[in-house]
Amino acid sequence: MSTPWSPDSWRAKPVGQTVEYPSPTPSSSSSSSAERDPDPVLFKRKQGLEAVAGKLQTLPPLVSAVEIERLKLNLANVANGKAFLLQGGDCAELFDYCTSEKIEHRLSLLLSMSLILIWGMKLPVVRVARMGGQYAKPRSSQTEVVDGKTINSFRGHNVNGIDPDDRLPDPERLLSAYFHSAATVNHVRSLLASGFASLPTSAHQSVPWSLPLAHVRSPELLKSYEEIVANLSGALEFMSVIGVDRSATTNSAAAALESADIFMSHEALMLEYESALTRKLRVPAFAAKTKDEEGWYCTSAHTVWIGDRTRALDGAHVEFFRGLRNPVGIKVGPSMEPDELVRLLGIVDPNKEPGKVTLISRYGAELVEKKLPAHISAVLQSGHKPIFASDPMHGNTRTSSAFPGVKTRHMHDIVSEISASLRIHASMGSRLGGVHLELTGDITEDGLSVTECLGGSMRLEEEELGLRFESYCDPRLNFEQALDIAFLLSQSAGS
Ligand code: PEP
Ligand code: MN
Repeated sequence: MSTPWSPDSWRAKPVGQTVEYPSPTPSSSSSSSAERDPDPVLFKRKQGLEAVAGKLQTLPPLVSAVEIERLKLNLANVANGKAFLLQGGDCAELFDYCTSEKIEHRLSLLLSMSLILIWGMKLPVVRVARMGGQYAKPRSSQTEVVDGKTINSFRGHNVNGIDPDDRLPDPERLLSAYFHSAATVNHVRSLLASGFASLPTSAHQSVPWSLPLAHVRSPELLKSYEEIVANLSGALEFMSVIGVDRSATTNSAAAALESADIFMSHEALMLEYESALTRKLRVPAFAAKTKDEEGWYCTSAHTVWIGDRTRALDGAHVEFFRGLRNPVGIKVGPSMEPDELVRLLGIVDPNKEPGKVTLISRYGAELVEKKLPAHISAVLQSGHKPIFASDPMHGNTRTSSAFPGVKTRHMHDIVSEISASLRIHASMGSRLGGVHLELTGDITEDGLSVTECLGGSMRLEEEELGLRFESYCDPRLNFEQALDIAFLLSQSAGS
């Protein structure tokens, strides 16, 4: 028998990756104007974490139950083999990424990748951005040494700052996280509602989300991408000739050409934040079993995941996740035992709902052959129907030989982990339903992309890492390397 769940029941369990906040400064008892708190925001800050959580509880949800349940339906399709999941974005999203340009670059890359996947796989793609809230980072070491001084590690913008002088955790950042998420989600919604994701109508029409292809280094990659766009334009022209009216919003096929769904996700690491945004809401009629059914929704994002470091069966994160109606992700690293995985599924997915859980495996190219088969067979035998996704990034991080201390990843390892996952699933009568990638569509003013991962069709060399290494956490695929992965996956379909 499980104990009763509430958005706060996690507080009775051990919390992994805790953040030690400084005690709140007592507010001044003096009434002299010089000492009085100058403004209410500063006053609130002095009240610490509790006041911030109290304020968050009063703020509106960032996403709705209808949107969350719509994603859940989409993910059930993925689990049933009728769609593919593409999840990706920054390792650590910064508050500074909340600009129209950066948001548009990120959406553009996800849309371009999904175009390649849809074209090659002949399946719908469910797009989930690591965005609009990916502000908290678990760290293997809570401190680091900078200029001979031991300081707190950077834990993500909703905990502390990047500047070595700004590493004290500040609860007020959680409020800032909410507002940056709100602005990001709002911009994504307004872009999508305004036709940002619409498809090209001719080979010569550029779409709002087209990529800066002029700087693509690999002629083969450019050619493959342009071929897809030209083929697609041809198909769309044909449809318009035979009279499919793209402006007819009652026609769902036509509406699909005008827009696309993009859902938001992040790691639900900071439980004070996540539980403050968890609300009891009416379950939408299309998803409800009874007329007035209600459920608990974590409204900070459409879906959230548990990291590999905080997935202890008896830990606070698993306790929090077990009460949510949202579809959720679980990172699965090499230390996960097959029976532990099944017990975890039993806790967060007691009703064995298809697609309720996405297992995001991240073993590393060297361990995937050893670890994945036992996980697949344990899950298949358990009767749970999660999505199996591959995160080929986190088991393949290594230190650069040219730039000591700089983390990088080689496309060779990334491709090898994905290919092995595809092969192993196919050989066991299972299916790789999605990928989870760290990537960025960011480009500099002169159209150049970041240089954080090695190799790919652009053949990025170790010596080039220093050119535009901009990540403050893990290295991300740039847009050319991300398109390489999309082509790899699209070509694997049916093979
Ligand atoms: C991440 O996704 O950035 C991350 C820290 O992953 P993991 O929990 O798998 O290490
Ligand atoms: Mn990461």
